[in-house]
Amino acid sequence: MPKPAADRKVIEIQGLYKTEPKVYPRTVSGLFTSWRWFFVWLTQAVFFGLCWLPWNGRQAVLFDLDARRFYIFDLVLWPQDTIYLAVLLVLSALALFLFTTVAGRLWCGYACPQTVYTEMFLWMEKVIEGERPQRIKLDAAPWSARKLRIKVAKHGAWIAFSLWTGITFVGYFTPIRHLIGEVATFSLSGWESFWVLFYGAATYGNAGFLREQMCKYICPYARFQFVMFDPDTLIITYDSQRGDPRGSRSKQPDPRAQGLGDCVDCGICVQVCPTGIDIRNGLQNECIGCAACIDACDQVMDKVGYDRGLIRYSTENAMVQKLGRKEIWRRVLRPRTLVYTAIFLGVTAATAWSLATRQPVRLDVLRDRSALAREAEDGAVENTFQLQISNASEKPKTFAIRVAGIDGIHLEKPADIDIPPAASALVTVQAKADAGSAPSGPNLIAFTVEDRNDAGVAVTEKAKFWMP
Ligand code: SF4
Ligand code: SF4
Repeated sequence: MPKPAADRKVIEIQGLYKTEPKVYPRTVSGLFTSWRWFFVWLTQAVFFGLCWLPWNGRQAVLFDLDARRFYIFDLVLWPQDTIYLAVLLVLSALALFLFTTVAGRLWCGYACPQTVYTEMFLWMEKVIEGERPQRIKLDAAPWSARKLRIKVAKHGAWIAFSLWTGITFVGYFTPIRHLIGEVATFSLSGWESFWVLFYGAATYGNAGFLREQMCKYICPYARFQFVMFDPDTLIITYDSQRGDPRGSRSKQPDPRAQGLGDCVDCGICVQVCPTGIDIRNGLQNECIGCAACIDACDQVMDKVGYDRGLIRYSTENAMVQKLGRKEIWRRVLRPRTLVYTAIFLGVTAATAWSLATRQPVRLDVLRDRSALAREAEDGAVENTFQLQISNASEKPKTFAIRVAGIDGIHLEKPADIDIPPAASALVTVQAKADAGSAPSGPNLIAFTVEDRNDAGVAVTEKAKFWMP
């Protein structure tokens, strides 16, 4: 017999993770959308195009891990130069700090790969499945031959594009022309296949499915950037003083006469939002600063005949203190941004100077540890060294080797050494000095390697000569 309702326990199953409703962003057009598409084209032209650019008979940008050389136009970086890559990361971080403090989430809204790829995937989705209402209807409909056909077409397009991004990514590590030949003949190596599939799957998963979840829950930059915000940081805001009280209205020119603000409560700003939030609820963690809601609301304002800018770029201080554009611009130069700018420019200038004065030859001196010193037949003292000489330029070079530091010290066989472009050679040399020409024990000497055709290209490295 069933228990009476009062005796029954109600068991509610609570999931560990909150299920997020799928966001179907409505297509929008306008000034900021055009800027976003400009950055989509720009970043993708660089990403897909740069690996095809020839330079000095090779790929302009190539990270050749096998040969341990990074080629970036005229710059050839060796493992010893990883400091420059570290500096590049530091500069990128500084630039992000600076831009975030000044302009909030500009990077997220316009140039972040997550935004850029989501924009492109959404475009493919719109072309194949239709606008927002059609997409919602299609997803809600039961499976049919038509739905299957449309979904296969969409995922086929996404997968093909994702694989192309994977191939392009690997093309920065294996020369792209060679790689394409391997793809065409199904002869990719294990690692190449892995990275093509991994990068392609990451693009497909992030831009096709994760989308706004990546910005809301995974991206570390999204988590900590609010620390860099201050009341003068540019944010996207809804002007609640002007917009509220919201509501639909009859066609009267003055909403105030109806006790209403300028917001007609059409909800279009929410429909276009790629993260599905309502900017009218104030600044939120989820807002990526894409400005789609500005474009959408401006169009609504145009239609109802009100001034644009109910949702706009502004600052917290500007909203509270009713500051004008001039004052907002003036406050861009504040102590915090000046300090970030000074550090950024300082590090950039130091790096540029270091790169400009960088010698295209490197020298490492290793002592022969098996014998400290040897007495030669003529009574002189001989020490053996190994010199690792690297030609960091892209031309073959002839180098002369010299030694100095002790009176009369010289090399047993002074010889020039030819080194091909972007290559290195290990040379064994015997330095000889007269017995008694230096105190017994270690004595500081210096090896110099100099370009035979350009005396300005020379590098000196210290070593210790052992006198018995
Ligand atoms: S688009 Fe503008 S008018 Fe429409 S609901 Fe949003 S803020 Fe209000
Ligand atoms: S609230 Fe506006 S700016 Fe923020 S993510 Fe949504 S549409 Fe973009």
